[in-house]
Amino acid sequence: MLRRRVGQRRHMLAVQGVSYVLMTLVMLVYCYAGSIPLILPSAYFVCGVGLLSVFVVLSEAHFNDRFEDHYLTIYQVAGHVALQLCFLLAAPQIGFFFLSVVFLIFGFGALRMTSRQAITSWTLTMIGLAPIFLFTSTPIGLPITTPTERVAAMLSFVLTIGQCAFVGLYGSTMRKMLYDRSFELKAAYKRIEELAEIDELTGASNRRSIMRMLQEEIDRAGRSGSPCSIALIDLDWFKRINDAYGHPTGDEVLRTFSITAFANIRSVDRFGRYGGEEFLLVLPDMETERAARAVDRLRAMIAELDWSAFSPGMKVTMSAGVATLNPNETSDTFLARADSALYAAKAQGRNRIASA
Ligand code: GH3
Ligand code: MG
Ligand code: MG
Repeated sequence: MLRRRVGQRRHMLAVQGVSYVLMTLVMLVYCYAGSIPLILPSAYFVCGVGLLSVFVVLSEAHFNDRFEDHYLTIYQVAGHVALQLCFLLAAPQIGFFFLSVVFLIFGFGALRMTSRQAITSWTLTMIGLAPIFLFTSTPIGLPITTPTERVAAMLSFVLTIGQCAFVGLYGSTMRKMLYDRSFELKAAYKRIEELAEIDELTGASNRRSIMRMLQEEIDRAGRSGSPCSIALIDLDWFKRINDAYGHPTGDEVLRTFSITAFANIRSVDRFGRYGGEEFLLVLPDMETERAARAVDRLRAMIAELDWSAFSPGMKVTMSAGVATLNPNETSDTFLARADSALYAAKAQGRNRIASA
């Protein structure tokens, strides 16, 4: 981020350098017209570039990074405005030229300033301008008598307008960038929300998510009076599978089981990883018998699945405990009953379904 910031600052300072070169060229035309002595454009160029160099050195030394506004906008505005006012005093005969640069500095600075900084720099500029306008007698002008002076005046305005347009363009580019960034952020946020709901290994809903869904279904059943069943599913002898074929193969088995289960449930059913090799299936609008039949179909499918692709002779089975929601029952006791049924299914020899 710091490297990107230095890059942004370099870009900004380079633009300012170009601006000083252009302005010096206009002053040289005034010089050619005889309105000002040659020392003025030379001094203007040296002072402008000198001031820029100070900011370049600070920026490259990462001094800027200590501040919230790493462009040091207010100091840059103050420095460059002060420079214009000094030259306004030194060459009031082309004073409007320097004043137009003050406009430019504010236009550029306002892109980065807070309203407080804007008010402060405006007040300081006013304090600088007031004595020059009120207490000096030399007329401030922009000579346009000779054709060369007219060319210089025209160039001065054309360049200032061009640079104002550049500032506007830069502002709209920044706005567009922010707009795009907000879209990217929204997409990233959505992805994070999805990831927070999904179990990484199996792609099923994670425990937090399936528990929330269970509560939703319990609430819905309570409101509508329709039945709601759950099945707590546990893979049989899974430790042996891990031991015999390795943990990565165990992971693949979990994934395949999850995909198979997901592909064979209704769209209203909810399926999630309850933990380890245990899964929770929520079956809305199903009473015990139908739920047990549905889960038994899944059990048969898993038992008959050809697991030899993972390893020759591999067999995977599952046991499940099915329970149906009692009136006014909480999710805790509901799950506890399904867990007891699962325990019974295991005790009866595994690869079977037991109902609470
Ligand atoms: P039972 O039939 O009684 O359920 O026997 P079991 O071996 O399946 O029982 P137990 O719950 O004792 O063992 C579960 C094993 O599941 C232990 C653990 O190493 C394994 N396991 C849990 N989570 C994962 C996982 O994410 N990946 C893999 N490969 N194995 C896991
Ligand atoms: Mg198990
Ligand atoms: Mg287990």
